[in-house]
Amino acid sequence: MPNLPKETFKPTYAPASVNTRATGDQSFYNSPVWRNTSKAYRDENPLCENCFDKGRLTDAALVDHIIPLPIGDQFSPRNLMSLCHACHNQKSGKEGHADGPLIAYNAGFPVNRLEIFKILR
Ligand SMILES: [Zn+2]
Repeated sequence: MPNLPKETFKPTYAPASVNTRATGDQSFYNSPVWRNTSKAYRDENPLCENCFDKGRLTDAALVDHIIPLPIGDQFSPRNLMSLCHACHNQKSGKEGHADGPLIAYNAGFPVNRLEIFKILR
């Protein structure tokens, strides 16, 4: 059962040399620190959190930033959410990625997982 991050979750923090704020820079997602952080989060939350909210048991495929980079926190478990590909694609589509997440979030896109569950099928 996906739970909110547990107290025992210990994210690995990025060394200063990792450019984590570059938009569209895939080097962050390929960095060891992100791989370790996302793996640790998914180990704790192996099911898609949105599907689980709808009563479906679906393996998570990835860890999403609830508030996307570069706006949201890169490593805080409060800003991470395990999702399947379908839910991730749906969320990304609603964020309007054409010009990045700034527009959606400036326009009041939900910034917590419970509100996001309400807008995703
Ligand atoms: Zn899902």
